Amino acid sequence: MSAPRARKALDGIPLYRAGKAALTEEHKLSSNENPYAPLPGVMERAAAELGRMNRYPDAGMTTLYDALAKRLGLSPDHFAAGTGSVAVLFSLLNAHLEDGDEIVHAWRSFEAYPIAIDLTGATAVRVPLRPDAGHDLDAMADAITERTKVVLVCTPNNPTGPVVTAAELRSFLARVPDHVMVVIDEAYVEFVRDPAAAKGLDALADHDNVVVLRTFSKAYGLAGLRVGYAIARPEVAESIRKATPPFTVTDVAQAAAVASLDAQDALDERVELIVQERIAMVAALRAQGWHVPETEANFVWLPLDEDAISFSAACDPVSVRPFAGEGVRISVGTPAVNAQLIELAGSWRTRNTA
Ligand SMILES: *Cc1c(COP(=O)(O)O)cnc(C)c1O
Repeated sequence: MSAPRARKALDGIPLYRAGKAALTEEHKLSSNENPYAPLPGVMERAAAELGRMNRYPDAGMTTLYDALAKRLGLSPDHFAAGTGSVAVLFSLLNAHLEDGDEIVHAWRSFEAYPIAIDLTGATAVRVPLRPDAGHDLDAMADAITERTKVVLVCTPNNPTGPVVTAAELRSFLARVPDHVMVVIDEAYVEFVRDPAAAKGLDALADHDNVVVLRTFSKAYGLAGLRVGYAIARPEVAESIRKATPPFTVTDVAQAAAVASLDAQDALDERVELIVQERIAMVAALRAQGWHVPETEANFVWLPLDEDAISFSAACDPVSVRPFAGEGVRISVGTPAVNAQLIELAGSWRTRNTA
């Protein structure tokens, strides 16, 4: 018997596992989603596009690129959008990696990275996080060989929370050869308050080999509509656009993204609410005796090791994200559910610490 056979590269690739469903959507603290309704004006402008669903979307994404260009002070040819920044990363890696190449990234980091990397046939070189759960950029620079084509830097790091500082990134970039691409994944950049944190756009201004990834899924609350983008010098942006199938981002999603950019004040307010809840959650958990790494994102990390799975079960009806043998990531939700989670975490500690 013979049958169609997928590429060997797929054999070791796990299916991406999304965060567990919860009692109510509000109880879902497992996928770093925004707990709030769309920003003002977004529903209306998306609905207007929905009525044109017989038409293909604008493949050139001109309105979206123009809006981003205006917001960030760069020309539109610096952008490449896709159905979420994960999809943009897939296109980027497909455009730049092949069998035999190496890509360096921190681990534990975003669980979509291994999938995106393995599909290209390139070899992942994983560099363990520091004890404080941040990137070990010195070790990552040491891991670069003549085969390295790409380095991924996730700041703030999902799922652990710390940022890379501007000083750390500067010395790292000084050690990276010009032909090696450095992808800075800023999915959570809007939640960052640490003034020492690295800024991807500053790095891009100084280094042609830097690519910044951003998304409308987290702070902007458009996870279900799928819009993310890369910011890069035009030749690199073009390579990503070429490697992306046409008509991926719908006009509904493009309109929602542009309307969200127009609602900057409401966005700032909402993000500030989430940041204040994060600060309160970290303080409450530390007061219970938990070791919580610094976090600049909309989630906190509990390094529970072997207790990750049993802790996450004990959080029911709140859904959190366990990483077996490593820890548990808890997204910041609404104040009521955050309070419920903090209480559950407190009783778990009382039961499980002598
Ligand atoms: C959520 C997330 C993304 C973006 O996801 P999309 O919904 O595909 O835009 C990218 N990187 C990291 C580290 C994330 O956590």
